[in-house]
Amino acid sequence: MGENIRRNSTLICVPIMDDTVDQMLIQAKKAKEQGADLVELRLDFLKNFNPNYDLEILIKNSCLPTLVTFRPTWEGGQYDGDESKRRSALRKAMELGADYVDVELKVAEEFFDSIGGKKPTKTAIIVSSHNYQSTPSVEEIGDLVSRIQATGADIVKIATTARDITDCARILQVLTHSQVPIIGLVMGERGLISRILCAKFGGYLTFGTLEKGAVSAPGQPTIRDLLDLYNFRLIGPDTKVFGIIGNPVGHSKSPHMYNPAFKAVGFNGIYVPLLVDSVPNFLKTYSSPDFVGYSVTIPHKMAALECSEEVDPIAKAIEAVNCLVRKPSDGKLAGYNFDYVGAIEAIEEGLQDGGSSAPVSPLAGKVFVVVGAGGAGKALAYGAKAKGAKVVIANRTLENAANLSSKVGGKAISLTELDDFAPEEGMILANTTSVGMKPNTNETPISKRALKNYALVFDAVYVPKLTRLLKEAQESGCIIIYGTEMLVNQAFGQYQQFTGLPAPKELMREALAKST
Ligand code: NAP
Repeated sequence: MGENIRRNSTLICVPIMDDTVDQMLIQAKKAKEQGADLVELRLDFLKNFNPNYDLEILIKNSCLPTLVTFRPTWEGGQYDGDESKRRSALRKAMELGADYVDVELKVAEEFFDSIGGKKPTKTAIIVSSHNYQSTPSVEEIGDLVSRIQATGADIVKIATTARDITDCARILQVLTHSQVPIIGLVMGERGLISRILCAKFGGYLTFGTLEKGAVSAPGQPTIRDLLDLYNFRLIGPDTKVFGIIGNPVGHSKSPHMYNPAFKAVGFNGIYVPLLVDSVPNFLKTYSSPDFVGYSVTIPHKMAALECSEEVDPIAKAIEAVNCLVRKPSDGKLAGYNFDYVGAIEAIEEGLQDGGSSAPVSPLAGKVFVVVGAGGAGKALAYGAKAKGAKVVIANRTLENAANLSSKVGGKAISLTELDDFAPEEGMILANTTSVGMKPNTNETPISKRALKNYALVFDAVYVPKLTRLLKEAQESGCIIIYGTEMLVNQAFGQYQQFTGLPAPKELMREALAKST
């Protein structure tokens, strides 16, 4: 697909918060190189700011259009000096040809009075309102939009705070129905989708930072992520939305696999991380046909099963759903589990040393120890059993191990028994707990000395790729299978379910490798 296709007119603005004019101009150059449309010059971050001198240098020398903001402390900014000086700096920025100035709603009326209708045609005035606590109801946001419009604003800006991902839906709804140019963003980790999907719903502008974490408001993504990871320019009104439901979800590599694949085959879709607290609330809120499908990860696979209106028999047996798809025919949510296929295939290939699959699975007759009895544990246990392995479940909570082993037909042991469990040599171990996952990379579910009893060790954890468990297994002479293999294999099945197209396997594999 051509690189220059653009499906939306939403601008990407890089906020610049340096403390010197020179540094701000350097950052503006970087923003241009990275593909930004404009920069927000945050005057309140400048040390020794001299409006008469500095503004002209900044505005005349910026290589991108400028949005000038001089945010006072009472609206979440840094400036706590004289208010009349602040407003006079904003007026000066307009005279000097700033493309946009930001004026807070609380003082907008006085500001418009002070310019007496003499606004340079080049400058658009953004009147902004920031709510650092919550996101009000649609009606309240609608009232706010009207109040902002009534001030004479050229562009309305409303930034609220997400307590839950469903809060974003209200802002996105207001964007869709707005008759005026509007910037509507939801701050915070749970507000991320508002910063990406505003392109689908007609937002005027979004913010993208130059560096990760160098944010002017909580939750801003980097411009690189907007453009390269989320293919921001390709998002349009008809773009279908997919994502990974989890909590936490920030570490997920899934967006790195699906988005490049969508782009490469010209599929009009976007795949985003979805930090969800309640799966039913999320699904109820985002129920439009454009929200098509989701991968589901920790801790929501059982909730996803409960929310599925139709369940694939494999997912039902495993009692966990890792893929939810809204059926186009009747809008019903269908639940699947692709973890099973993904992991077992990777383990079989490992035992066959990558060779062609024999008629009988290399797992048949082997002791297969599954550590963990959650969603991934169930998938591995069910899969191993189906291949004829002797399944043993080792879990922190013995009761959960016993429940699972009685269902699949196997043995249950507690995690504390694992080190001394050695009925035979050449066993297979699959860790399906989050033990060893970043940031707890020094943890491992089994002692190194016990690994000598295993021929192959698989770890579902994939951040980091080489977990302590896998490193010690490798040192003990075991074949090791990375969690990324399971991830990529199960993603192929989900991709097909989401798009109705075969997965571009090599491309997804390479994209995942690049991101880890
Ligand atoms: P889950 O349903 O919440 O199950 C978690 C399991 O881990 C339970 O058995 C739990 O034991 C155990 N556990 C959690 N914390 C533990 C600790 N500190 N010590 C010992 N055991 C602990 O989660 P899940 O969806 O199965 O995911 C588990 C892991 O697999 C995650 O790290 C996830 O990222 C990974 N995963 C990877 C892939 C992949 O494609 N590579 C796919 C799916 C999952 P209790 O029963 O005692 O609570």
